[in-house]
Amino acid sequence: MIQYNKENIRIFQSSLYLTTSAVIELDEAIILTDPNWLPHEVEEIKGYVNQIRKDKQLYIIYTHSDFDHVIGSGAFPDARVVASRKLSENVHKEDIMKKVKLFDQKYYLERNYEPKYPTVDYIVSEDGQQLLIGSSTITFYLAPGHTDDGLFTVIEPLGVFLTGDYLSDVEFPFIYSGYFDYVQTMEKAKNIFSKHAISVHVPGHGHTTESVVEMQNRLTFSREYLDQLLDEQANLEEILTEKYRFFEGMKDIHQNNKELARKEQSRKIALEANG
Ligand SMILES: [Zn+2]
Repeated sequence: MIQYNKENIRIFQSSLYLTTSAVIELDEAIILTDPNWLPHEVEEIKGYVNQIRKDKQLYIIYTHSDFDHVIGSGAFPDARVVASRKLSENVHKEDIMKKVKLFDQKYYLERNYEPKYPTVDYIVSEDGQQLLIGSSTITFYLAPGHTDDGLFTVIEPLGVFLTGDYLSDVEFPFIYSGYFDYVQTMEKAKNIFSKHAISVHVPGHGHTTESVVEMQNRLTFSREYLDQLLDEQANLEEILTEKYRFFEGMKDIHQNNKELARKEQSRKIALEANG
């Protein structure tokens, strides 16, 4: 499952949707993100965490509440959980856990833990909020647009940027909660890249990269894609087919993105005309 392994950082990759779980070893704590998906995969991550943990505190950061990202919650009962306020207060908790249950039913999967929606110990409610652990500084930013409860995390001095379901190299932007939110979140990402010295980018789906050029390409593509969604003339499908190996399975999401973006755009125009 190991996709990337360097000094204090190990990135696990699930067989499903190239979903990642990052394990980051700090002097005084272990940071884990979104442990997922399959039972034996969660076990493997847990085994590694236990092996390196010693008496360190384990923190789990949930990047957002999509069911594939919280499916491992319950497997690490003594972890301190970090997530956005919106994730903590999500009113669809039960529906999300129903999706986990349905997934396990559908594939006859048994887990040796009871999946349950994360109870958040450390709530992030504003941009730039910081958690200091030993000599490390962890800075959080709210990242709505994909879902409204997304979270960006920067770990310094390691220079790790954990972006959840943004800035993937295998997916175009999936806009579930808000088009203009998504646009703003990409602006935020741009500022994060200029404000922090990022040396490793870990997306929630896709490949970890140390290349600054690749990081910039990911950001530029997302911004261009969002721009072109509003352009009737743009031939995005052709570009997406070319760029994304698994586009066939994501086509519907692109259609939904288009509709959502245009709906928000006309609402905005109508509001401006009335205001
Ligand atoms: Zn996801």
